[in-house]
Amino acid sequence: MSIVIKGATVVSTYGQRQMDVRIVDEKIAAVGVDIATPADTIVDARGCYLLPGFIDAHTHMELNNGPGTASTADNFTTGTIAAVAKGTTAVIDMATPDRGHSLQECLATWNNLAAGKSSSDYSYHMSLIEWNSQLAAEIPKMAAQGITSFKMYMAYDNLRTTDAEIYAAMCEIKKVHGMLGIHCENGDLVNALQAQYLANGLTAPKYHALTRPNQLEAEAINRYLTIAALADLPVNIVHLSTRESLAVVRAARARGQKVYVETCPQYLLLDDHYYELPNFEGAKYVCSPPLRSQQDEQALWQALEQGEINTISTDHCDFNFHEQKFIGKDDFTKIPGGMPGVETRPELIYTAGVTTGKISVEQFVGLLSENIARQFGMYPQKGIIQVGSDADLVIWDPQQTGVISAQTQLQNVDYSAFEGFKTKGAARAVYLRGQQVAAQGQLLVGQQGKFIARHGSDYHLK
Ligand SMILES: [Zn+2]
Repeated sequence: MSIVIKGATVVSTYGQRQMDVRIVDEKIAAVGVDIATPADTIVDARGCYLLPGFIDAHTHMELNNGPGTASTADNFTTGTIAAVAKGTTAVIDMATPDRGHSLQECLATWNNLAAGKSSSDYSYHMSLIEWNSQLAAEIPKMAAQGITSFKMYMAYDNLRTTDAEIYAAMCEIKKVHGMLGIHCENGDLVNALQAQYLANGLTAPKYHALTRPNQLEAEAINRYLTIAALADLPVNIVHLSTRESLAVVRAARARGQKVYVETCPQYLLLDDHYYELPNFEGAKYVCSPPLRSQQDEQALWQALEQGEINTISTDHCDFNFHEQKFIGKDDFTKIPGGMPGVETRPELIYTAGVTTGKISVEQFVGLLSENIARQFGMYPQKGIIQVGSDADLVIWDPQQTGVISAQTQLQNVDYSAFEGFKTKGAARAVYLRGQQVAAQGQLLVGQQGKFIARHGSDYHLK
């Protein structure tokens, strides 16, 4: 099976050039000017960009929030259809073990959720919600099975560990050249503020944001980076959202520390005014960290322009507004946290970032694909259009326009956080390992996603 895609502008972080690309079976077989046809299929992609398939390194496709809420609205089946239809050909989901259970059991659970159901390729970050010698011994076993990234928490009482436990985990992760990402908020102080607000009868969604102020994120990031410096481990900060946090990162980098920063579309495009919406609609935007001020948004865009933010993923974790979010109608702390996003990231960031000139199309490719592949040990299999790489490709039409709406979305949830947002630029065709899986934003064939066995992070090199 061979396909030649002709005439598109091929983009990587290094630059762009009009070239043809030949796909043979699952791989890219040739990249060059005027590649000779014939092929089984010839695709005319003039006027379009050809981009490496986007990777979303932060999803919760099937998170069980415990009794009362039930699972997220999307699961691997529906969530990855939404992903791949719009150009995201790989996801790294957050796998979270139950307390007292092994990482190996958790890996088996997540494989059950994804295998045979996922329409994108997939892997997982393994969460460490406690720490002991058995878990330490499992880190190299995880790495041997292709799980080379880990997630920890500084907030949420059921998930967070102590600073000493984080340090101990870092020392083990370092041995396998793994990448750690931490949810950075000061959990003790979040708890204290929540109790204080509730005691004063302040129960509306807007108090979600007021009980998780900027400083609590910046303080936790500072502590995280202090621990990482002790362990001499390059680390990732997931969903960074404030200008104070950026200042902490800059100071650490100035000291020579390797720090990688993820942000998400909601922190770039939405602000805390959404919490004021009437009829409990503010609950749609309850996520942690919360939406921030317009000043924070601007600071994040500046950081993107200057290359201080390395990746944009979504933290896709969606609960239906009716039924699920309403559980917190009388108590904002009971609103299940998170919002949909895996479907809309490419169009949102292209529209708000590239068409406005804030970031280049090369930066766009880095933020949504190449940097993620390098950071999480799947480069050059993923994240680049070059000979030998998986043929995960997006023919991106920069002229195509659209409007984001819950009515038309593929995400299996009853609202969109970006309702009415006008987009410019969209995936015209999406290929996963050489097979065209989507056209014009709709799935053609599904459930062919494979587990990606990852190596250590490129960021341990040099
Ligand atoms: Zn998350």
